[in-house]
Amino acid sequence: MNLLSTLTERIQDVEQLIQAACARSGRSRDEVNVVAVTKYVSLDSVRDVVAHGVRQLGENRWQNAKPKWEALQELPKSEAPVWHYIGSLQTNKVKDVIGKFTYIHSLDRLSLAQAIADRADKLGIIVPCFIQVNVSGEDSKQGLEPEQLPEFLRELSQYRSIRPIGLMTMAPFEAEAEETRPVFRALRELRDQLNELGIAEHPLTELSMGMSNDFTVAIEEGATWVRLGTILVGKEEA
Ligand SMILES: *Cc1c(COP(=O)(O)O)cnc(C)c1O
Repeated sequence: MNLLSTLTERIQDVEQLIQAACARSGRSRDEVNVVAVTKYVSLDSVRDVVAHGVRQLGENRWQNAKPKWEALQELPKSEAPVWHYIGSLQTNKVKDVIGKFTYIHSLDRLSLAQAIADRADKLGIIVPCFIQVNVSGEDSKQGLEPEQLPEFLRELSQYRSIRPIGLMTMAPFEAEAEETRPVFRALRELRDQLNELGIAEHPLTELSMGMSNDFTVAIEEGATWVRLGTILVGKEEA
């Protein structure tokens, strides 16, 4: 991937890679959504991304997202982005994030669920959330252990304003993307097993997995949301 390529070229290249991964795995292109992760770029670049018709934006820290979120409030509704919170979420940031970010990809503890639910109740909204799972067992990774999921999902059903829609994971960085395949496959299997248990009121349909270096493998293993920063939006010097 040429880092000097234009945004238009990167969007096209990513689209081709997605289509090829869907074709290899017999999936329909419509099943795969892209979150453009804008955390490495300036407000001007985010404007450019949105002007290119990209509507799903992801950020992992409220402090960095805030100026971008605020500036883009000026856009007419038809052009307004949908925001995804993909980083670990501190409870004291919930009041800032909920109501602004439509999707939360990093629900990983009950105290956070409680805070989200309190805020959502106040705003009268329902928040679609991904439960973050530490599939690889790395200490450095956020997320629940797979064994904790059934009980966590059971506890979540007490919060009417939280809608668990699927699972999210971050694979360890591997030089060879292929080596992440077992992690992605395991997340899909966990989702399917949870659905068989029938705990949640609605089946978990979504899998948020795959980043710039490994998203084609994630798509082959069932990703419904890939989170793409570097390869799509680019990376600028801070
Ligand atoms: C930064 C980030 C991404 C995107 O990373 P790239 O490798 O640049 O695509 C995806 N998911 C999460 C949780 C991130 O923090």
